[in-house]
Amino acid sequence: MREENIDAVASEIFDVAIIGGGINGACLYNQLCSEGRHVILLEKADFGSGTSQASAMMVWGGLLYLGSLDFRAVYSFSSSRDKMIHDMAEWVSPCWFRFLPAQRGLLSKAPVALALYLYWLIGQFKRGRPRIEKQFPEKDLLARDNISLMFEEARIRQSDARFVLHWITRNTDSGGVALNYCELEDGEFSVGENTWHLSARDRIGNQEINFRTRSVINCAGVWTDRLNASFGIPSPYKHVFSKGVILGMRRHLDQVAPMIFDMGEHNDVITSIPWGPIGLWGPTETAVPDIEQGFSASPEDIHFLLNQYNRCYRRAATRKDVVSLRCGIRPLVVEASYDKDEYPLELSRRSRITVNKGKSWVSVYGSKITGCRSLAASVARRLDAILPERQKIHTGEIPADRASAETFVFPGLVEKFPTIDWCMEHEYCNTLEDYLRRRTNISQWVPREGLGYEDENLPLLREMSLTLAHGNRAKAEQHLAAYRADVANRFDRVLENV
Ligand SMILES: Cc1cc2nc3c(=O)[nH]c(=O)nc-3n(C[C@H](O)[C@H](O)[C@H](O)COP(=O)(O)OP(=O)(O)OC[C@H]3O[C@@H](n4cnc5c(N)ncnc54)[C@H](O)[C@@H]3O)c2cc1C
Repeated sequence: MREENIDAVASEIFDVAIIGGGINGACLYNQLCSEGRHVILLEKADFGSGTSQASAMMVWGGLLYLGSLDFRAVYSFSSSRDKMIHDMAEWVSPCWFRFLPAQRGLLSKAPVALALYLYWLIGQFKRGRPRIEKQFPEKDLLARDNISLMFEEARIRQSDARFVLHWITRNTDSGGVALNYCELEDGEFSVGENTWHLSARDRIGNQEINFRTRSVINCAGVWTDRLNASFGIPSPYKHVFSKGVILGMRRHLDQVAPMIFDMGEHNDVITSIPWGPIGLWGPTETAVPDIEQGFSASPEDIHFLLNQYNRCYRRAATRKDVVSLRCGIRPLVVEASYDKDEYPLELSRRSRITVNKGKSWVSVYGSKITGCRSLAASVARRLDAILPERQKIHTGEIPADRASAETFVFPGLVEKFPTIDWCMEHEYCNTLEDYLRRRTNISQWVPREGLGYEDENLPLLREMSLTLAHGNRAKAEQHLAAYRADVANRFDRVLENV
């Protein structure tokens, strides 16, 4: 599928090139394909492998932004959440969350209850009415006797990475071209032709790909400023970076509802979200000066999260209870002249779109998974203003999500996942990490990213590598060695130093 796509692009003139296959780029790809645009989507690594694979997978109305009195953000995120619950039941499900205030007693309960009612009101009463619960199943797990306030939100069902992927795979037959492991490197705008001549690097075939497009949409997340700078696109905005780490902890089986613990400072909270055999514990919120410092969890992040965990839960956890790590950088939009040093949670989470009409270049700043559809619709409207005519490439119906995958069960898990062969054929799967981390949840649910504490799953991963390498044993060993080296760096060494 990928090779066919690469061969086809050189002779094409696309309406739009979307750069970045995270949630923003993927959802926009779906929007524009369904509008009859001829679209190419380029992702320098795997789809969803940037910030989008590191989220808490909550589809929420922005409760925390009440703290900064950003009612518009709360209104718009709540509407997005409710539309997703309504239109995308297969992907997004409503879910009750348990809020646990920092202090006991009436004084701490009253403001939280008031805030939850205000939240419910701004959300136009579309979710269940908030309520107080004195007795609840998780009570015995907690370090302190606490009351709980229940309110309704939503969450992504399978995983954030699969959520990204589905926006792309459902357009496989739409005439659009989606390429992972292709990095946009260079290009020039021809004023006479009103067309971009772009050049990308196929990181798998190690070849240059050249193509033409009448517009570009920069959806590169935290890389947006870098891309704009290298193509000479000025902007009134820029991103500041906030690193977020989440631990996948061995799950307390008595925990049914996701819990939100008030941290008692900065209006911040920490969440514990049951997800298969683990509970997601986090996230952290740390301003980082650059992208390079942000995409790996440090021993300090883990230490901080374990300390918080042991403040909240009765049974103390150690690094041995950490099954997996998630780490991403939030792209937070600020004015280009911004130079303050604020706690990242104080900054707005709204998104911004800028249009450079002369060069037919659109840039997307900031984002949440929750707002992806409304953001895609807004970007599409802005594109209409600079590129009204369409090529009407997409003629048929968008095929339904593929339900007919061949499945198998990984040792130690009960859930069924699509097989690696199936994902290679239908879902742009190229590496062991693509499969274990983003096509399935195996690397998040099985210790040491699927290898097991004692490497007990190595033979199975070797078989998978052989499938990836189409039977070539030498190549298969390279796949496996690269994966094991990554696990040693990303997981083993970090935890050893906690
Ligand atoms: C810890 C944490 C928890 C979060 N929890 C939630 C939550 O519960 N709910 C929610 O709604 N949001 C949440 N978010 C926010 C949300 O995850 C992000 O805002 C969102 O995923 C950003 O998506 P994106 O598409 O803008 O960026 P990304 O996912 O980073 O995608 C950008 C892509 O562009 C690619 N790219 C960059 N340069 C190039 C190039 N030159 N050529 C080709 N490709 C390129 C990158 O490889 C990357 O994949 C959370 C974020 C974090 C960090």
